[in-house]
Amino acid sequence: MNIRCTFCNTPINLNREIVHAALDEMHDEGHNHYNLHCPRCRKTNKVSQKQIKRWAPTWKPGEKAEEKK
Ligand SMILES: [Zn+2]
Repeated sequence: MNIRCTFCNTPINLNREIVHAALDEMHDEGHNHYNLHCPRCRKTNKVSQKQIKRWAPTWKPGEKAEEKK
């Protein structure tokens, strides 16, 4: 999963763990977007829950990864 920073156009790669952690966080905090920090310009990109869910169609609330560190 790749997303492009809206500020500096840097592609940011999101792996499955990040996507699931983002969905868990949104679910826990009741947000409908995820604040993704760009590694290059450090600005915050708001990614909608809808968009992230498309990358993790199997994610369900409360199903946290056991290997969470
Ligand atoms: Zn950026």
